[in-house]
Amino acid sequence: MSYDVIVVGAGHAGCEAAHIAAKLGAKTLLITSFIDTVALLPCNPAIGGPGKSQLVREIDALGGLMGRVTNRSYIQARVLNKSKGPAVWANRAQVDKYLYPSEMLNRLSQTKNLELMQAHVNGLLYDQNTVYGVKTEDGRHIEGKTVILTTGTFLEGRIYISSWSKPAGRWGEFPATGISEDLKKLGFSMGRFNTGTTPRIDEKTIDYSKATIQENDPGLSFSFWEEPNPPGYKPVYMVRTNARTMALVRENINLTASRASTMVRVGPRYCPSIEEKAVWFPEKTEHLIFLEPVGLGTSEIYPNGLAISLPVDIQQKVLRTIEGLEEVEIIRPGYTVDYDMVWPMQLNITLEAKHVKNLFLAGQINGTTGYEEAAAQGIIAGINAALKALGEPPFTILRHEGFIGTLIDELTTKELAEPYRMLTSRSEFRMIHRQDNAIWRLAEKAHSRGILTQAEYSKVQERKTKMDEVFNKLKETSVSPTYFPFLKQPVKAETVLRRPEVHLGDMEQFIPEIAVLSDEEKLTVEIEVKYEGYLQKEMSLLNSIKKLENLNIPQDFQYDGLPISREALDVLKKTKPSTLGQASRLAGVHMSDLAVILSALRKGSSGKDRSSNQ
Ligand SMILES: Cc1cc2nc3c(=O)[nH]c(=O)nc-3n(C[C@H](O)[C@H](O)[C@H](O)COP(=O)(O)OP(=O)(O)OC[C@H]3O[C@@H](n4cnc5c(N)ncnc54)[C@H](O)[C@@H]3O)c2cc1C
Repeated sequence: MSYDVIVVGAGHAGCEAAHIAAKLGAKTLLITSFIDTVALLPCNPAIGGPGKSQLVREIDALGGLMGRVTNRSYIQARVLNKSKGPAVWANRAQVDKYLYPSEMLNRLSQTKNLELMQAHVNGLLYDQNTVYGVKTEDGRHIEGKTVILTTGTFLEGRIYISSWSKPAGRWGEFPATGISEDLKKLGFSMGRFNTGTTPRIDEKTIDYSKATIQENDPGLSFSFWEEPNPPGYKPVYMVRTNARTMALVRENINLTASRASTMVRVGPRYCPSIEEKAVWFPEKTEHLIFLEPVGLGTSEIYPNGLAISLPVDIQQKVLRTIEGLEEVEIIRPGYTVDYDMVWPMQLNITLEAKHVKNLFLAGQINGTTGYEEAAAQGIIAGINAALKALGEPPFTILRHEGFIGTLIDELTTKELAEPYRMLTSRSEFRMIHRQDNAIWRLAEKAHSRGILTQAEYSKVQERKTKMDEVFNKLKETSVSPTYFPFLKQPVKAETVLRRPEVHLGDMEQFIPEIAVLSDEEKLTVEIEVKYEGYLQKEMSLLNSIKKLENLNIPQDFQYDGLPISREALDVLKKTKPSTLGQASRLAGVHMSDLAVILSALRKGSSGKDRSSNQ
């Protein structure tokens, strides 16, 4: 058996990687431990939110599946950050935990060039520093030109509730043993992180009369390609912790998994457990808890904000201190998992390992947390593994091109102190890299490399033409005071639209072309006009950074012998940045160091023999 691309693990990274690799024409195998858990959402079944919705739409713009599958499976959706400007609005969907995976599996099953296989991988096939396949526990050796590891929380995974623990990748699933050992033999430096989840509670035992319903925004879309088609609606409610809740957690703090067991303590700071909240914010007693439905066909509720690893009887007592949950019953307990991860500075921005050929890594294995972060890496690893196997040059999304670029740039240049989660604030280009314009930003580049088909790209162009017509009309059309009484004389529509109280929809009566735009396209036009000044400022920063990003540094570039600081030398040799832009963001690398590297690059030599010449 031999493949172009072997993907290990059908989580969120693995599904995107395998789908896109196959779409690019690579003969692809997706091996996963248990087909029934393809695209499982082991924590909150929610997709999107600040920083993450941009990733979802960028994955979608590259032809990925996450947005389309979300459109088919969400049961509640909202626009977050609404109190801020529309440029940072973020769509978030509560998806049905059972429909999302089945929709994903359905699409993978129909993908040409893609084979699915249930098997547990326990090692890599490699020769010195080149990987050429995987070994399965049942003794098979499967060869591939490239291998992508997307094993999530499974590498030597162990789950915990208080002092109890058991080897597992997630609750009820075998851990992955053997792969970590091979990675270490291949010279990877590895770490260990943890993450935790909340109990799932029974909606029949919740008194919703004491909870507040959360607003729902119907009709939201997570994909350019397919209209939303939600299977139904189930509301989200809100309740709050109180002084008794937090006191009970604090009284039992020594029974949390991180204190009562040998679990590593490095967890996601931006997603703290209720136990950490009790310690970090001792004065705060009221924490908002969202009661989020797990699916249409189940009574399980995910109490978002209540990740916990205390003994199950105490979990129950903690929950029952909350108004509305006095009689609550737990269906599944909260627990934590710790697992091996690979420090991602050992990867190129294609997500191929720097020192091991043909091995790509994506998702939680790289120290990230979150479905969207995993899927975003998955699509980039999938594209590049396929391109490599097919003998084509790599495809990258750089920091100035999108949130995916920011994510991968940060992973490959910064030491992680904890599981990495995407946040809007991580991007200095967040006004330009919005969820609503991902398709316009990335489609052309994706099409130029065959990642989007001609038919797909034609659809993008067709919609773009409609938007351009509206942009032109806004520039050309003079609006008379009869339409807007605050005007004293006719003014160009574009100028009127800059006023905060005016919206594009108000102009349909004299610019009929607006009516054919979708709500999201209207929003894009409105943002581009209203925030033109801010966008231009960000764009000029982007253009200056782009110049640095376009200067590639060869992987074998020799820093020894260059007149740069010792500090810069150490970090550059360790990190091996792919571009001058990446080098500029490394702690310890100064402008003077960059000038020296730039001059060496301009001289046109990779400087391979410089140290021996001096
Ligand atoms: C308990 C828990 C709590 C979490 N809490 C949060 C949170 O608070 N916030 C958050 O954003 N995210 C959280 N998540 C993380 C979220 O689930 C992951 O970030 C996301 O699923 C990672 O996607 P992935 O594709 O990298 O891996 P996963 O979704 O974990 O998928 C890995 C896949 O690989 C397969 N696999 C593993 N090893 C092998 C092998 N040897 N052979 C074959 N197949 C293999 C598995 O079966 C699985 O299908 C939590 C996860 C868990 C388990």
